[in-house]
Amino acid sequence: MTSPLCLRGGRVLDPSRGIDRSQDLWIDQGRIAGWGEDAPAALRSKPDVEIVDVRGAVVCPGLVDIHVHLREPGQEERETIETGTRAAVRGGFTAVACMPNTDPPLDERPRIEYVVRRALEVGLARVFPIAAVTRGQLGEQLTEIEDLVEAGAVAISDDGKPVRNAEIMRRALELTRELKIPVIQHAEDPDLKGAGVMHEGWVSTRIGLKGIPDAAESVMVARDALLAELTGGRVHVAHVSAARSVEIIRRAKARGIRMTAETAPHYLVLTDEAAAEYDTRAKMNPPLRSERDRDALLEGVVDGTIDCLATDHAPHTEIDKDGDFDSAPFGIIGLETALGVYVRALVEPGLLTLPELIARMTVKPYEVLGRRGGTLAPGSDADVTVFDPSRRWTVRAPEFASKGRNTPFDGWELPGHRASETSDSSFSFPHQDAPTTTRSISQRSTTVTERGPKSGALPTSHRPRPQRSTIS
Ligand SMILES: [Zn+2]
Repeated sequence: MTSPLCLRGGRVLDPSRGIDRSQDLWIDQGRIAGWGEDAPAALRSKPDVEIVDVRGAVVCPGLVDIHVHLREPGQEERETIETGTRAAVRGGFTAVACMPNTDPPLDERPRIEYVVRRALEVGLARVFPIAAVTRGQLGEQLTEIEDLVEAGAVAISDDGKPVRNAEIMRRALELTRELKIPVIQHAEDPDLKGAGVMHEGWVSTRIGLKGIPDAAESVMVARDALLAELTGGRVHVAHVSAARSVEIIRRAKARGIRMTAETAPHYLVLTDEAAAEYDTRAKMNPPLRSERDRDALLEGVVDGTIDCLATDHAPHTEIDKDGDFDSAPFGIIGLETALGVYVRALVEPGLLTLPELIARMTVKPYEVLGRRGGTLAPGSDADVTVFDPSRRWTVRAPEFASKGRNTPFDGWELPGHRASETSDSSFSFPHQDAPTTTRSISQRSTTVTERGPKSGALPTSHRPRPQRSTIS
């Protein structure tokens, strides 16, 4: 038995129920027990209630990130399920959906079962595995999709690579239509991408790097819209980066095609100029694109064409990322900075309200996955995030819980500070099983006091840099 918990006096913000008011939130046995005066009297009068003062902070449903790379099994030098989910809860995420491009890939039942089991053992955030579309992610032969879903997969994707073969994509959409899950597409035409390493445009020409045209993404989005229409299946477009893709998705939705989309924080605050000095922390796939693309993405987020906000958290070792721009791997991390970057990119300029932003990081991604979640309704799982959007903090990559340090946001000052001096920058109460509620809170409080000094010599390749104010 654990004691009931009362989060006292926070701004309780639950977009799933249109609620935004200051009140207490009660948690008992891993579930939301009630709010304010509506909490059961028997609970409120219990002598062993643990009270956490969260006045001035936002209390919202636990954030869910629909697109992360946890790298386990096989690439544990980059990230593990433990370090990745620790980074998730630091960043305010109580659940993550992980991509199958591990080594070996998540293309067989025991591998999906391994991820599910390992996440339960670690007990930090919920982990929803995404299974591979094709065996070995080789694009040739479909996996045993039904079997993988039965083992716990919530979607299928060959992320890291596209499903290149249209016939295979068609069959994947037909099969998943019956299973009521989406096919998540890393939309990219490999021939158009070629050996490109950054956005094809003025900057790539100027600095002499091989470009990837925006059409490499958009032609695949257009093809998949047609295949979704043909099959009645559901395509979710991962990490949308290009203006033309936004336009195609907007039109597809207007035609009633079952297509949803996500983007990642960096596409909303950075452009290809960030790669102008060959900084490999600005190398990701799809690449950072032009100002025009960035504006179109912001518009797409505002009008709902882009349904949800993910991270594409992609940890790499420093050795890998320290190579030259051409040979360094694609990808940056995002779990510990996403909330702050999104508040800064969308809420501070008045593009979305805070409740709208929270909806894009809670109910919306759950809807895309066809799952229930992202609510503080009494009786629901106590997945809760607490953060203070008005307080700012400075990103220090060496202090990340993730093994990855590959972030372009090192040294940035971001909103969304920890709720109190005794807890983390945002904290969450994930539950794989009910009775861990209060334990995870005290663990998280302890973690902070053990984090040690905030300063120290930083590796040269990760010096904090002047903040780039690309949001006008
Ligand atoms: Zn991808």
